[in-house]
Amino acid sequence: VWLGALLGGLCWGTPTVALDHVRMVRDGHEQRLAGRVLVTAADGGLLLQTADGALWSILPEELQEHTQDDAPFVPMTGEEIGQRLLAELPDGFRIYQTSHYVICYNTSRAYAQWCGGLLERLFQAFNTYWEKAGFELKEPEFPLVACVFADRGSYEQQTQRELGQLSAQIIGYYSFQTNRVTMYDLTGIEALRNTNGRRGSVGQINLMLSQPAAEQAVATVIHEATHQIAFNSGFQTRYADIPLWVSEGIATYFESPDLKSQKGWRTLGRVNRMRLARFRQFAAQRPPGALTSLVADDRRLRDPRQAEDAYAESWALTYYLLKHRGEDFRRYLTMLSQKPPMVWNTPAERLREFEEYFGATPDEIEKDLLRFIGRLDD
Ligand SMILES: [Zn+2]
Repeated sequence: VWLGALLGGLCWGTPTVALDHVRMVRDGHEQRLAGRVLVTAADGGLLLQTADGALWSILPEELQEHTQDDAPFVPMTGEEIGQRLLAELPDGFRIYQTSHYVICYNTSRAYAQWCGGLLERLFQAFNTYWEKAGFELKEPEFPLVACVFADRGSYEQQTQRELGQLSAQIIGYYSFQTNRVTMYDLTGIEALRNTNGRRGSVGQINLMLSQPAAEQAVATVIHEATHQIAFNSGFQTRYADIPLWVSEGIATYFESPDLKSQKGWRTLGRVNRMRLARFRQFAAQRPPGALTSLVADDRRLRDPRQAEDAYAESWALTYYLLKHRGEDFRRYLTMLSQKPPMVWNTPAERLREFEEYFGATPDEIEKDLLRFIGRLDD
């Protein structure tokens, strides 16, 4: 839930020659932040980005003082972010850095290395895939942070404030606000424990997590990490009006690595078996106009009772468009990538955009989509 509705006429793309200093009071505590203001709302609210890449939405009533000086905005280095994380998290955390990631962990170093390897391979796969598709991506401006907790308990404790009840249900997530992926050591999951429990090396961890029982857990981590890459490479902008079916469709497209292969995403573009099975189950009872509702707004994806089906449908639509309407989809994604933060489209505008880029309404492509999905091998 965000405050899109609260922020009216906007200024976006302020040149960042100056550093903004903000003093604010939230929940009775005074906080000082320095960074760059990305959006100034008509009512005085701010969207501020700090040097670690985090975004702060500051309400007019929280804002006490806003000044500028002429110091440049400089993104933090991996080392600086690492120091910041160690200061913020409980004792016992360490840092493991790879070329794009700062991994903050209190589990085994081998597991942190396994994560680093997996994330870097995903990063490569994502970049290679879109570059081949003719999409120009940028190097991330900020180091990508992943926090890995040793076990479910400490993860839940730490994430409760941000996630509330959800922290008990999800095994990892990407936060728009902090720009971090947070998760816990999957080799500690009960179902995987008794599979000859050794996990001393990256190779052993790979072996353990390439079992069918781990498939969904690994897919979740990849899914969240895909969001993080997408929102840090110029592919999508946080708090911009990216239809949720698009970001979830892309994340589910990348979801299933082949952990047995060195490259991991050799199989990219194969059907996502979990999502396909779910979609086929759902297809039998789908109400008319389902695709229109998926494109028009995010409600089905945000409703816990409908989400699983809506995710599967997002995967199916994305898969279909990538395979069948590649060039139109690329143009559509390019248009979305240029959307500024904090400007929200109505359902009618979203449908109009869809029709403009695909030359048909969701309703009109539905039959073709169902035929295409019906023919896929699982
Ligand atoms: Zn997602």
